[in-house]
Amino acid sequence: MPELPEVEAWVRELDPLVSAHPIERAGPAHVATLKTIDPSLSALEGQRLAGAQRRAKNLLFPTEDGELVLRVHLMSAGRIRYLKPGAKGPKRPMFRLRFAGGGELILTEGGKKKRAGVWLTTPEQLAADLAHLGPEALDIDAALLAEILGRERRQLHPLLRDQRALAGIGRAHANEILLRARLSPFKTSTELTPEETERLASAIHEDLERALELRLRGKGDKDVYLIHNRLGEPCPRCGNPIARVDFEEHTIYYCPECQTGGRLLKDRRLSRLLK
Ligand SMILES: [Zn+2]
Repeated sequence: MPELPEVEAWVRELDPLVSAHPIERAGPAHVATLKTIDPSLSALEGQRLAGAQRRAKNLLFPTEDGELVLRVHLMSAGRIRYLKPGAKGPKRPMFRLRFAGGGELILTEGGKKKRAGVWLTTPEQLAADLAHLGPEALDIDAALLAEILGRERRQLHPLLRDQRALAGIGRAHANEILLRARLSPFKTSTELTPEETERLASAIHEDLERALELRLRGKGDKDVYLIHNRLGEPCPRCGNPIARVDFEEHTIYYCPECQTGGRLLKDRRLSRLLK
């Protein structure tokens, strides 16, 4: 799933493109993709977008008059791009906006399960829909992080991925951040020392800023991720092999040497089954 750096890079790329011309035609949209019916998509026709913005992993396209916001969430397999006038696009995109001048904003989604979503709402409705989200990960300092960590006993990896706690991080960047902070993915949030909390706050900023800089230069997962999906490869910090552990529906990558005092973590799914 695209996480904060990737979505932010798309938003910056799309911002001048989607605001250059008024919308000529909104839709069609796949019935599984369009999550709202009122106002209808045709309310966008003739309107100009103010640009592109981001909240957590959502792309937001407010209209210039401030009355409506188009929200797009790509989930795992959705992809969004701008097609220049005359460029050949997919036959049946999940969603399309055509601009005066011929450019198009296209949402596609691979795989059978259609999970990406498009919502057209008022700014008030949008605020209500996104009210559950925690603060943006890049806006969090050590003091706010300490408060978030202390709210309840959580393991660090699932806590970092919880959009209600802090917004923008998914499983890949949770792996990257915890390696950088030299903390176990299963460490209990309420047991971090002030020094470890500082380290985690710095790791969040360093990792996401590095990734954003790479994404803005068009780099992909292979350059952005140093530990995620790299089982057995040398850890970029210490050179020892990267390990993995299954947890809930996710696979977590970590370095035993840097993060768990050399200890291999037990597969939590398997041990639960054997109980
Ligand atoms: Zn290491």
